[in-house]
Amino acid sequence: MTLIVQKYGGTSVAGASRIKRVARRIIKTREAGHQVVVVVSAMGDTTDDLVKMAYQINEFPDKRELDVLLSTGEVVASTLLAMALHGMGFPAISLNGAQAGIRTDSAYSRARITGIDPARILKELEKGSIVIVAGFQGITEDLDITTLGRGGSDTTAVALAAILKAKTCERYTDVNGIYTADPRLLPEARKLTEISYEEMLEMVTYGFKAIHPRAVELGEVFSVPILVASSFNDKPGTLIHKEVSMEIRNKVRGIAHDLDVAKITVVRVPDRPGIAAQIFLPLAEAGISVDTIVQNASIDNTTDLTFTVAKSQLAGAMTVVEPIAASIGAQKCVSDSDLGKVSIIGSGMQNAPGYAARMFDTLSKENINILLITTSEIRITCIIEEARVKDAVKALHRAFELEKAE
Ligand code: ASP
Ligand code: MG
Repeated sequence: MTLIVQKYGGTSVAGASRIKRVARRIIKTREAGHQVVVVVSAMGDTTDDLVKMAYQINEFPDKRELDVLLSTGEVVASTLLAMALHGMGFPAISLNGAQAGIRTDSAYSRARITGIDPARILKELEKGSIVIVAGFQGITEDLDITTLGRGGSDTTAVALAAILKAKTCERYTDVNGIYTADPRLLPEARKLTEISYEEMLEMVTYGFKAIHPRAVELGEVFSVPILVASSFNDKPGTLIHKEVSMEIRNKVRGIAHDLDVAKITVVRVPDRPGIAAQIFLPLAEAGISVDTIVQNASIDNTTDLTFTVAKSQLAGAMTVVEPIAASIGAQKCVSDSDLGKVSIIGSGMQNAPGYAARMFDTLSKENINILLITTSEIRITCIIEEARVKDAVKALHRAFELEKAE
């Protein structure tokens, strides 16, 4: 008997009728002869509502208490799903993260899984039960409850699939799979049948909010094939795995975009060792996550240092950087908060010339100004005006013929 891990997202379990529908899907897999372990997210906006409530009660909620509070959303969903399965005549048991053996470090609200003891899950499977695990949570050595960070149920599901050596981890939400571009922005975007881990990781890291990056990373490390599909229909979805066929590899696979980009430039920074560290260490200490960093080559012993942050972090970043800029003798700090990012992604770009040129040419024909460019081996990203991101995605989708079937 093969084991399948299925994960259902918050929209898939939002309400009694949806929970019953999910139960029927689980039963189908079960009746096809598989053992099933299910990971659930909290119903609908539960987690957001719990966060809001906590901050209404106390502006600085205790981290330990907050994690216990947030973990309850997934617990509620898991118990209701077990009850739905019972009502349909199937043996099922819900387990919270601790009962499922998920051990973590004690970094509240962003805990890392340190190990999983699957004994209880295996025992329940042996008894013939469908095992429902509350996602997004674990327990520390001191028996305190932790959560894995927002969107963490994906990580729970892939980690369980890895430890249980599941055949696949099926991740169900309200989207049909991974598309060549965000279908909400570009209706002609096409669903991919498969994509490699590394391409998917670049897509999600550069703005494609289809699955949590940590889950993709974990899938790659433990070679867990991840199927991304909808729980609202029976369409086949997209498989994230290692072996993507040669033909497909030779193309741009997708276009990611991100509308949440702000840029800071520290102008005329004295060019001497240690300056970058002086700027970026305090930013890291302030919990500001810096994305693209570009330093211009200097001609007169000064350079311009530009970096991007999420829009919500711009004000905080400026507060940190402005006094440092003044103290190191930089001329000034300037910022721009109306930016976006557009990226072309595909393993086929590795060692193949011409992709960058075609991307820049396409943007230039649309009269879109490129402010910054960054690349990895399989990705080229341009930072442009936010208002032009949609045009850029559309033009690039056409230029790289992504509407054509693979
Ligand atoms: N309920 C949690 C969140 O919304 C975890 C998850 O959905 O994966 O972040
Ligand atoms: Mg959620």
